[in-house]
Amino acid sequence: MKEVSQSESSKGIERLFRRQILKSEAYTPIVPPGVLSEEIGVSVEGIIKLDGNENPYGCSPRVQLALADHSFYHIYPDPEQRDLREALAQYVNIDSKYIVAGSGSDELIDLVLRLFIEPGDRVINCTPTFGMYPFSTEVCGGKVVNVPRGKGFAIDVAKIKAAVDTCTKIIFIASPNNPTGNVTPQKDILELLETGSVVVVDEAYCEFSGKTVVELVPHHDNLVVLRTFSKWAGLAGLRVGYGIFPTHVARYITKIKIPYNVNIAAQIAAIESLNDLAHLKSIVQSIVKERDRLFAKLQKFQFLHPLPSEANFILCSISKGKARDIHSYLQQKGIFLRHFDTPALQDCLRISVGKPEQNDILLKTLEEIDRDRPLKTSY
Ligand code: PMP
Repeated sequence: MKEVSQSESSKGIERLFRRQILKSEAYTPIVPPGVLSEEIGVSVEGIIKLDGNENPYGCSPRVQLALADHSFYHIYPDPEQRDLREALAQYVNIDSKYIVAGSGSDELIDLVLRLFIEPGDRVINCTPTFGMYPFSTEVCGGKVVNVPRGKGFAIDVAKIKAAVDTCTKIIFIASPNNPTGNVTPQKDILELLETGSVVVVDEAYCEFSGKTVVELVPHHDNLVVLRTFSKWAGLAGLRVGYGIFPTHVARYITKIKIPYNVNIAAQIAAIESLNDLAHLKSIVQSIVKERDRLFAKLQKFQFLHPLPSEANFILCSISKGKARDIHSYLQQKGIFLRHFDTPALQDCLRISVGKPEQNDILLKTLEEIDRDRPLKTSY
């Protein structure tokens, strides 16, 4: 039988697609190490991956033991995530009725949008910020309203309030923000809550900043806090996040989610991480210490301007040459950073904090660039 060609298919089946999907922009995810390794001809072990804000130390060894020890992978996981939610309730210090877990906090961003957004509803996005907010808003049929951040990438509360209208349903605030690393003060969140829109505070990096607004959730029916195990607990590959929701919202999120959204391996891994808090917290402390060392070293380069960060990454603007060129030079050496060149964020590099020895190689290569390379041309 003849295979249907792309062009035949686009005349045919695409006419049935939702209009919104045809119009919306794809998300740019990071490339996996195996593919990077093939692209540049460096072994996977030789790659210094500082582009995904992952934890370079991996997960707790107790997670690996517990996963190897489990013998019920043939049984569906608990759709109500009882054990995980109980363990989270202890960790967060809040009743488990406020908590729902997801397949990464990405899934919870999508679920919150699916709960509130009807076609044409508006979602406020404080740029530059995490790309999943506009991506998932568009997939859900919402309209993204970008409100640029102000000085030091602080959110502009007055501009956000001015942008809120009767169609505004959600305001997303990442704190610490990705990719700028700054925290939004609690007083700003309280002011935004007064608008009556749902304020989603994404605390994916809060273990590195030590700052949270989670204790406000029981007192506000429009505050949602999202968290993840991807960064501090080193479980990005297993996909587990959670939200702290007003109870009414938690009930409806549970109602609309697919029943087995957090697989059994992810549930075990998250619980076991919470059983190994002392170890994981000491790793978080080393990453924070290393972030501060790396920041001080980066400041010494004339062509780099690192921004103070309360997360596990540092954003640098580039004042000589192009960020894109530095990015590709480093890439050829097996060092992967995230590069930004958008209207909201021009000529910037985001460096995830690696192990000291990985950061030292990065710093040495930056010295090489500073010393030997004219920073104008492409590498
Ligand atoms: N929120 C922010 C601000 C992030 O930076 C990320 C990951 N890049 C996420 C959410 C998604 O995390 P998860 O792996 O839990 O889906």
